[in-house]
Amino acid sequence: MKDFELEPAHICEEIQRYDCPHVSRTLEEFYTVRCQVADMRNLHQSLDEVTVKDTLEGDNCYTCSQCSAKVRAEKRACFKKLPRILCFNTMRYTFNMVTMLKEKVNTHFSFPMRLDMSGYVEKHLMPAQYQGIVLPTLSDDR
Ligand SMILES: [Zn+2]
Repeated sequence: MKDFELEPAHICEEIQRYDCPHVSRTLEEFYTVRCQVADMRNLHQSLDEVTVKDTLEGDNCYTCSQCSAKVRAEKRACFKKLPRILCFNTMRYTFNMVTMLKEKVNTHFSFPMRLDMSGYVEKHLMPAQYQGIVLPTLSDDR
């Protein structure tokens, strides 16, 4: 049998500014993909959350390093490279701020028999003009 090496998934995060023309993209390697289970019914809902588009505005404005100014921006993540075997870490614990205790999430969470990742990849989620750009950083799984 051939040695098997676990490969990471590459997740790309893109921040596109509304108030200036700059775009930043970072690439990270993950050996496991963290999936929220609380308030989620299945893996697809959880993956939607991983790749959801966030608007950074108001108090949450993004500081553009090129302009040195606070600007409104849009943040989104997508899978750039998928490994042959993709591992999910289901986040079954939440922290209860009232009791200050860690609680297990026991709600039902389902997995499809066949997982279609095509809706979560760069090709599907990112604007065509930014695809295929060489990314500057690769950091370790956190
Ligand atoms: Zn800028």
